[in-house]
Amino acid sequence: MNNNSTSFSDLVVMKFGGTSVGSAERIRNVGDLISGSERKVVVLSAMSGVTNMLVEISQLFNNSNTQGALNKIQELQEKYQVVIEELYSQSEHKEEALTFVAEKMNFLRSFKEEYFTDFEERQILAQGEIISVEMMRLHLAERGIVAIKLPALEYMVTNKHGEPNLPEIQSQLIELLSHYPKQSLFITEGYICRNAYLEIDNLKRGGSDYTAALIGAALDAKEIQIWTDIDGLHNNDPRVVDHTTAVRHLHFNEAAELAYFGAKILHPACIHPAKMRNIPVRLLNSMEPEAKGTIISNRIKEGSLKAVAAKDGITALRILSSRMLLAQGFMRKVFETFERYQTAVDMITTSEVAITLTIDNTNRLEEILLELRKIADVSVDEDMTIISVVGDMNWKNVGFESRVVEALSELPVRMISYGGSNYGVSILIRSEDKVRALKLLSKHLFHEEVS
Ligand code: ASP
Ligand code: MG
Repeated sequence: MNNNSTSFSDLVVMKFGGTSVGSAERIRNVGDLISGSERKVVVLSAMSGVTNMLVEISQLFNNSNTQGALNKIQELQEKYQVVIEELYSQSEHKEEALTFVAEKMNFLRSFKEEYFTDFEERQILAQGEIISVEMMRLHLAERGIVAIKLPALEYMVTNKHGEPNLPEIQSQLIELLSHYPKQSLFITEGYICRNAYLEIDNLKRGGSDYTAALIGAALDAKEIQIWTDIDGLHNNDPRVVDHTTAVRHLHFNEAAELAYFGAKILHPACIHPAKMRNIPVRLLNSMEPEAKGTIISNRIKEGSLKAVAAKDGITALRILSSRMLLAQGFMRKVFETFERYQTAVDMITTSEVAITLTIDNTNRLEEILLELRKIADVSVDEDMTIISVVGDMNWKNVGFESRVVEALSELPVRMISYGGSNYGVSILIRSEDKVRALKLLSKHLFHEEVS
């Protein structure tokens, strides 16, 4: 083992999500998986359901329903008590865990409806991960394993735009780790951070994956492992299609496309730091640790279509220029409008006279329409779904995009976007046709792999 504290090339980051720490049994299972001698930083989420409960508690305070909030806090404390009863065999550890949780619950009880703002809410949301890490530390202590806590609030920092400040994260983490040159097991909270004003903040829902990727990038680690309860990223949505299979290997760009366009297994933001530092991301199954899972890296596997994902809740806008042609400056005006209203555009297609594009955030749609209608006729299609097919879509390959279109030949297709990248083709359909589309794509594209 390399104990040189400035090199972390042997270190693995292992992230376990809410279900992986969702019960006493699952916590023990994580204990088994992390107890090997390899140097590692383990990132934990809140137990499943806890962040949602913390959101509810905040909403209750916010709506001046203090009694409702107190009841929810009681419910949460009892949820923890049940797990603690089952998890620890020694009364010393049990007591310590109960006291820790009681302190945090009393902290939640200390909030007052009169002074409740976003600042208070972020402190409440942080408690789930903080409790998970302490419960795991005590569980490991009971097994005679020493794990060092790396408090995320001491190194995970964001800048004024709410983006992670990687150089700062790197120097803080290295400084923290330098105090423990002989230790090989570190545990830390996912999701939570401090913002540029040193307030408690978070990396948005599902952000623990992002924490793991940022730690991996900051330390130039050997690998980032995301442990869930499925054996990797599947070639289609297993909730919709039978006989999906795990994709063994994906390029970072393919994974980014799938994560962004609906594959639930990985937070889309976490690809970027890993890709930038070229650190492989491995998706593994904590219920079946021997399964190979999916590895995401900079390697391209040529000549195959890999996977399909779908993203619902899409709105398409057809923007027809009031002139005969798309006059110079028209595109700029259109995109400036979306920028001004901070609305990201996902898919785009154009013709001589019109642009069609899609958005998933319709909060500012009214204002956007008002503005665009000064220069164009605009029509809106709601309840649409983007289907994204990824794989080696290098335009010089023959026949790949046609296989995708062919597979959907019986469905009405609103938009096709191909050639934007070498990694995928996106198709816009009505949401009501999604299940049919996903099944048809599995049948036509992955036929041989269906067992
Ligand atoms: N606990 C947080 C959430 O539920 C972060 C995470 O689990 O990734 O969103
Ligand atoms: Mg998650």
